[in-house]
Amino acid sequence: MRFDLVTIFPEFFDGPLDFGILRRAREAGLVEVRVHDLREFTHDRHRTVDDRPFGGGEGMVLKPEPLFEAVESLLGRSVGDSAEAADPDPKTAILLMSAAGKLFDQETARRYAALDRIILLCGRYEGVDERVAQYLATEEVSIGGYVLSGGELPAAVVVDAVTRLLPGALGNEASAANESFSAPPASAPASSVGARPPSRAKRRPVVAAKSVVTSHQSPATSHPLLDFPHYTRPADFRGWKVPEILISGNHAEVAKWRRQAALEKTRRNRPDLSSS
Ligand code: SAM
Repeated sequence: MRFDLVTIFPEFFDGPLDFGILRRAREAGLVEVRVHDLREFTHDRHRTVDDRPFGGGEGMVLKPEPLFEAVESLLGRSVGDSAEAADPDPKTAILLMSAAGKLFDQETARRYAALDRIILLCGRYEGVDERVAQYLATEEVSIGGYVLSGGELPAAVVVDAVTRLLPGALGNEASAANESFSAPPASAPASSVGARPPSRAKRRPVVAAKSVVTSHQSPATSHPLLDFPHYTRPADFRGWKVPEILISGNHAEVAKWRRQAALEKTRRNRPDLSSS
């Protein structure tokens, strides 16, 4: 998977993509992340990327020309008219980060994880000339119902969420299958439900792509569940004890407890998921 990030602040990405799973996925060659300075695609002395809005109003708007040029140079082809934009390469997504976009969720992340390449366009100021959304981007993506100062954080969120779904990124495919919004815990193999916490060494990624992590729905509830509660040592922390069942060694009972706990947590924290 290749990610291309187009931004006026390329240094922004020096940190967020250099740790943990993302860093190891990059080192292992599972993902390639390239950051592009939007100003490289300007032609004037001041390397202008923004201008005042037609019709008046506050702030500045990112101009279409540098964004089109950046994407065209990355794709190696022109995106000259709306017909071409409407018929993009099905394995490549061009995502415009936008508070007004469609909400990014785990289902969207799974869809993106099946692609070969994702180009992420980071807006700034008052936003981006609408023709970018209309004729260049394949989708407008919002990471939540709030307004941030720029598209860089949202782009990093998308890169992270998608990368951890790539086969081999977590090293332990069961972890992705049992996370929130994916498989219910009851589907976890009994062998992964140990009475004792696994050693940290077992949680290191083994980069071996075997299976694609797909969308999971609970067969009993037909909706995704949040993750079940996790506990580790000490079994008694300030008098707050780990639920007895988790140290019983009874794998079937542990699986049952986890499933029930996940259901309760989903109802409590995300009733919208429970009723969907
Ligand atoms: N005027 C815009 C509006 O009200 O929707 C907000 C512009 S915002 C200050 C600047 C840039 O930040 C946007 O162009 C977009 O790239 C990014 N951005 C802000 N909030 C976002 C969100 N929730 N999801 C994705 N991108 C966001």
